[in-house]
Amino acid sequence: MTEGGPLDNMLAQMEQAREYVDIDDGIFERLKSPERTLTVSLPVRMDDGSVEVFEGYRCQFDSARGPFKGGIRFHPTVSKEEVAALAGWMTWKTALVDLPFGGAKGGIVCQPKELSEREIEQLTRRYTEGIRRMIGPEIDIPAPDMNTDERTMAWIMDTYSMYQGYAVPEVVTGKPPEIGGTAGRVEATGRGVAVVTEETFEYLGTDLDGADVAIQGFGNVGSVTARLLDERGANVVAVSDVTGALYDPDGLDVQAVSAHVADNGGRLEGYDAEEYVTNDDLLTLDVDALIPAAIEDVVTVDVAERLQADVVVEAANGPTTFDAAAVLRERGVPVVPDILANAGGVIVSYLEWVQNSQQYSWELEEVNRDLEDRLTSAFDEMLAAYERKGIPDLRTAAYTIALERTAEAHEYRGLFP
Ligand code: NAD
Repeated sequence: MTEGGPLDNMLAQMEQAREYVDIDDGIFERLKSPERTLTVSLPVRMDDGSVEVFEGYRCQFDSARGPFKGGIRFHPTVSKEEVAALAGWMTWKTALVDLPFGGAKGGIVCQPKELSEREIEQLTRRYTEGIRRMIGPEIDIPAPDMNTDERTMAWIMDTYSMYQGYAVPEVVTGKPPEIGGTAGRVEATGRGVAVVTEETFEYLGTDLDGADVAIQGFGNVGSVTARLLDERGANVVAVSDVTGALYDPDGLDVQAVSAHVADNGGRLEGYDAEEYVTNDDLLTLDVDALIPAAIEDVVTVDVAERLQADVVVEAANGPTTFDAAAVLRERGVPVVPDILANAGGVIVSYLEWVQNSQQYSWELEEVNRDLEDRLTSAFDEMLAAYERKGIPDLRTAAYTIALERTAEAHEYRGLFP
């Protein structure tokens, strides 16, 4: 059984793909462990005058192909193991979409909804000080993830720049446009999920127009995915967040739901829906596509056995456990893997970093075209590997490409010293 958490899940996925790639044993061993993980202790003066000490991490998984790249997450379930898994997935993602980056991830164990904006700012700045010796435009470039956004990236950029003595916009991506953020970054991950979903429907020979879609998570990724799929003619019949799920078999009014969330502190709660269901119900609805866009390990064996969707598109990182993936494979339900489906975010982060490095900016159309081109090429490469090598599923096909590319980089660079 491999329902032991994200890191076991990621390692099992690597082992599964190994059968289909020719990688030196020593290199494969190197690929299984992060290069380094820093743990930082973060004392923060709270609004009531007391001091609370938080714990944060930055895991740098692999840099054979370029500087480390990966988001920062603020969430109570953040752990050293979770950031290692997420950093590993970043490594395979950047390799799969062929960006000149390695993979990293960071996080702070906290419940941001219980903190004031001032407390979050102090925590972010103290964390940045804690990890600043290991980040930098040529070393490791953080970005947003769960519960972090443009605001958070601006604080990180400012704190890092204060130590350097000059503005360093290219130390983070996902910044506000006013300080070097790119057009299209906020929407990039959801836009990528929509592009990949469209490609998937085309591959499966079904029509996205009129298709029923259920989306778990209505944050940055889930809400943009819902809006763009709605615009492409899909019927978004269910969406959810931590407060529960909304369901309307005739299709939700995505614009109205988004407007409600914007006025309601980011929560779906209180929206006047046709029906209310649980997150578990949402995962097992009879829909054309299920899009988990919240957290890891939600599609378990139990859920996979009851799942009725025709395809799963993984917008979240690691939403399907290794054993659940086996059940879905057995049942003939394709799963479009996270390392492809949510790669739009890191692609546009790359474009932001390139623009910052050149002190130049591109129009939204150019950014979106580049995003779409890179994702569709990676999708086609994944399908070609899947069909060519007699590989059991799409994730394994994607991993063969990512592992081969990363292993080749190690092969060329050799083993220091
Ligand atoms: P977010 O914080 O903006 O939103 C998360 C959403 O998930 C919220 O609606 C929250 O209420 C919901 N949620 C949390 N726990 C839940 C639960 N147990 N059940 C149901 N819903 C729950 O985060 P995000 O940036 O949208 O990230 C979502 C996922 O996408 C994560 O797995 C993240 O790693 C992945 N991802 C994000 C980006 C990005 O650019 N933001 C890029 C690639 C992958």
